[in-house]
Amino acid sequence: PARAAAMVALASLSSLCLCGSARRRSASAPTSISCCVLATPSGRGSHESRIPRRRFRRTEGATKSMEDSVKRKMEQFYEGVDGPPLRVLPIGGLGEIGMNCMLVGNYDRYILIDAGVMFPDYDEFGVQKIIPDTTFIKKWSHKIEAVIITHGHEDHIGALPWVIPALDSTTPIFASSFTMELIKKRLKEFGIFLSSRLKSFRVRNRFQAGPFEVEPIRVTHSIPDCCGLVLRCGDGTIFHTGDWKIDESPVDGRIFDREALEELSKEGVTLMMSDSTNILSPGRSTSESVVASSLLRHVSEAKGRRVITTQFASNIHRIGSIKAAADLTGRRLVFVGMSLRTYLEAAFRDGKAPLDPSTLVKAEDMDAYDPKSLLVVTTGSQAEPRAALNLASYGGSHALKLSKEDVLLYSAKVIPGNESRVMKMLNRLTDLGPKIVMGKDAGLHTSGHAYHDELEEVLQIVKPQHFLPVHGELLFLKEHELLGRSTGIKHTTVSNLSSMVWDFRY
Ligand SMILES: [Zn+2]
Ligand SMILES: [Zn+2]
Repeated sequence: PARAAAMVALASLSSLCLCGSARRRSASAPTSISCCVLATPSGRGSHESRIPRRRFRRTEGATKSMEDSVKRKMEQFYEGVDGPPLRVLPIGGLGEIGMNCMLVGNYDRYILIDAGVMFPDYDEFGVQKIIPDTTFIKKWSHKIEAVIITHGHEDHIGALPWVIPALDSTTPIFASSFTMELIKKRLKEFGIFLSSRLKSFRVRNRFQAGPFEVEPIRVTHSIPDCCGLVLRCGDGTIFHTGDWKIDESPVDGRIFDREALEELSKEGVTLMMSDSTNILSPGRSTSESVVASSLLRHVSEAKGRRVITTQFASNIHRIGSIKAAADLTGRRLVFVGMSLRTYLEAAFRDGKAPLDPSTLVKAEDMDAYDPKSLLVVTTGSQAEPRAALNLASYGGSHALKLSKEDVLLYSAKVIPGNESRVMKMLNRLTDLGPKIVMGKDAGLHTSGHAYHDELEEVLQIVKPQHFLPVHGELLFLKEHELLGRSTGIKHTTVSNLSSMVWDFRY
């Protein structure tokens, strides 16, 4: 609180001059701290990876003008000691859910927070994932001193195989231990595993990364071992929440660290960045343990029939609840779907798995068991083309044949954009006959992201000088900004990258 009010300038093309005025003003008031949110020239990611057709259309001239455009924008960035001391450059993830990759700096020394991928719309055939444009990261690799990962979701770690080669060969990558297990596996798959660069951290243990002393703080979310990050340096303190909700009774017992936030508030936070995913959902999210009871109830009610569940494979908490329901109803678990094993094995290596992967019934042995003694866990809640449940809906899965004797528990939400293909899959499943249990009243799913009242509570606890909403569509960021203002935060900023993308293309 002793810090003087800071100035935030948003450096999109039209408002770069604001940065100049911020600088001039801070020069006349030397005690003030200013921070700057810049939009990168690369915008939302390499366009040719989004629409592959363009790769063939691109001419040398177009490439050249693109390079000129990068160069022009580079000249507009603050570099060195000229300009605000705290700097934020979103590489992706502002204005659209999915791609999270952000440079945070103290003057010219940066760290990269998260390196995610965005999954394209179903219509964009042939495109598997959209990764951040690494050209910019490469250009600034000498200024990027560390990568810090908040948690293991694909929209936070999925771009590492592309980002790591763009960085200097010794830049360390920090993550919590479960997240690191996922990262290690991924890097091995891509042949870029280098153990000396990978550093695991524990919550509340501070470490130095580039210009910042970093303190990870426990937050609750839909995958284990998630962290918010406190970044301290001589010019201020930044708090990045990561993805979070407040789960008052998390199934793994690791509670959301309100105490750390209260201490942080006393210390004073210059800039807070917070998850905007569910800003439009009123009230508070329900706990994962409520879902655990619903799962148990529905599995019990399905007595005498085989039960099949589908959920997000990364939600190890949910897998634990399914395991508990199986144990309490005398069923054996079967996994059908590759990614279920990936996440469970990472948790097992980290000592946090709810079950030993070797105790699972093998999918190919399923026929040897009485169907009513089984609980089959599948991937494919979003009707992903190659996922187990989707294949089964076409009758195309060797492991899983569905019939009217089965009960299907849909323990997920339909992610916006996937509605139509999920509905088609559900129609095919209905045709095969299983009873499908889904919908709000079934209580089989809860979000991993904070609802309105939780977002408000954290804003009120932390009381940052500046607020930058992150992780959400532009509409959500704007709404979150208004919430920030309503809690009394004077300096709020929303960065809209879409105009930069438009400009970058020509
Ligand atoms: Zn997440
Ligand atoms: Zn996320």
